Parts: sequence; C-alpha cells; structure tokens
Amino acid sequence: IQAAQSTLTRLVDVSHMVYEHAMWVDDLLAFQERCRTLQPRRSGLPAPETVKTITLNDVSFSYPGKDTPALNGISMTLHAGQTVAFVGVNGSGKSTCARLLAGLYEPRDGGTVRWDGVDVLDMDAESLQARVGCVLQDPVRFPFSALANLTVSRGTLTEADPQRALDAARASGAEQVIAGLPGRWEALLSKRFRGGQELSAGQWAKVAVARGLYKNAPVLLLDEPTASMDPRAEHAVYEAVLRDSPRPDQITVLISHRLASVVACDRIFVFDAGRVTESGTHQELMDLDGDYASMFTLQAAGYRAEAEETA
Ligand code: ADP
Repeated sequence: IQAAQSTLTRLVDVSHMVYEHAMWVDDLLAFQERCRTLQPRRSGLPAPETVKTITLNDVSFSYPGKDTPALNGISMTLHAGQTVAFVGVNGSGKSTCARLLAGLYEPRDGGTVRWDGVDVLDMDAESLQARVGCVLQDPVRFPFSALANLTVSRGTLTEADPQRALDAARASGAEQVIAGLPGRWEALLSKRFRGGQELSAGQWAKVAVARGLYKNAPVLLLDEPTASMDPRAEHAVYEAVLRDSPRPDQITVLISHRLASVVACDRIFVFDAGRVTESGTHQELMDLDGDYASMFTLQAAGYRAEAEETA
C-alpha cells in the first residue's frame, strides 16, 4: 500500500509539472502571438544596433476585417534621447501607432515607417524585435526566478547580468518587491510553480517594466504597463523611468491615461479617432488650451478631490 501511495504521489507531482509546463507554454505562445508581425517581411536587412530617428510619414492602418481605420495619415519624427507620450481616449490609435513605429506592425494602408531613413519593411523582423523593449498592459508572468523574470528575452532564458538587472529593478520599483521576497532574486515567481510566490498585479507590472529597461534596446515602448497600479505607484514608476531613461541613444514611448504621469515628457502626442490632433510639450499644450488642456484640468480636479477624500 505504501508503495502504491508513493507512486500515486509521484504521479500527481508529474501531472502538476505537466500542467504547469503546458500553462507556461500557453503564456509563451500568447506572448509570441502579441509580438508577431502581421505580414512577412519583403527582405531581411538586419535592423541597426542604434537608432537616431524614427519617422512616420502619412501612415494609415486598418486591422483586417475592420472598416474604420485605426490610424489615418499619421506623420511624426521621434529622436534618440527623447521620451514621448501618446495620450487620448481608448481606441484612438495610440497602441497601434506605437507598434507601427517599432516595426511590429506594417503600415498596411499606406505611408512609411523609417528608422534612420531605412524602411522598416526592408528589415528582418526578428532583428527588429530584438531592438524593441515592449512592456504591455497585463504583462506575461513567467514562472521563473525573479532574476530570470527580468532577464528573459522573448521567452528564452539568457545569461543574466546581475548589475544591469539591479539597475533596472531600481528604476522600476521592482527592487523593493524583490527585496521583500524570501529568496530575493532567486525566489521562484508565479503560483504556477509549486511553492512559487504570486505577486500582485502592481508588483508584476514593476517586474515587467524592469524587464523592458533591462533589455536596454534602442526603442522602449511602455503601453500602460502601470494600469493596474494606484495613481501614486504609477507616478513613482514613470518618474523613475523618466529620470533614468531614455539613454541618449534610446527612444522611449509612454502610453498612459493618467496625464500627470507624462507632464515631464519631451513631447506629447494627443490622439483622436486615428489622428494626431495636438502635439507639443505639456506647457505648449496647456497654452494651446485645446483637448489636452481640458483633459488635464479635468483629471487634476479628480485627483484633488480623491486626495481630499483620503485626507
Ligand atoms: P488605443 O491604444 O488608443 O486604445 P488602439 O490602437 O488599441 O487604441 O485601437 C485603435 C482601433 O483599432 C480601435 O478601434 C480598436 O478597436 C482597433 N483595434 C485595436 N487592436 C485591434 C486588433 N487586434 N484587431 C482588430 N481591431 C483592433
């Protein structure tokens, strides 16, 4: 009976492992799907190691099967050393534009995206993806150690650089999360690991931002990774990102609903129904007294009311 019991326990263990592995593979596939370009490349020049300017010229884009275009004639130039913000209501085209400028989507309905004058369509998709750090809402929760969660690259474990990981964790606020875990950097994360530690959505978001910073790529997209955090925690993350990033050779794009987080950006693009309707620094847009100024004033009043309520 004892032998049967121990065999049964082992079987249960193995089936757990298989289940966890299947879930993990599922996550990876979902992750790869999200990174997937919509169409194969025409040719395969390796993407450049550094990028000085990204230029969108009259870019339009519709999702397959949709009548209304997600983007309609977008033109903009982003420079290395800049942090820009995309703001606007849901569905106005911010994420689509960010993916296009990073070469993750192709301008299907016209226009060009060029990195230092070279059309991204002429670049090899894989090497292009390697040049983009992409942090999305609801980031992947890898059932790896805390360290591996930062240093994993497109689903593959790579040799970790602990100092770079520490710098990235410091900038995103993940350092405090990791310091509070038994086992710290070695702590296994995700409840999918037997004995693994689950983090809150806000803590996972900090880990994901750290992963994006760790990648140290010439283009960094932060697409509302902090949506699950309270306004104060989001502000702390963006403040740290803005303080430490971009490197002089990096272009950082922040997408956020909370306008207080993007005040310090070098340039803010306001999206509405697939178009950029206003752009400039926070002060320029406030002076313009248009949509941005009224959205900002409205949100600021909301935050004041919230602060008074909690006081
Ligand atoms: P935002 O980031 O401002 O919320 P998006 O770029 O996500 O806006 O979306 C722009 C438009 O494209 C919306 O109408 C949205 O419904 C549509 N859209 C976004 N992603 C997809 C998708 N994967 N398939 C079909 N339509 C999409």
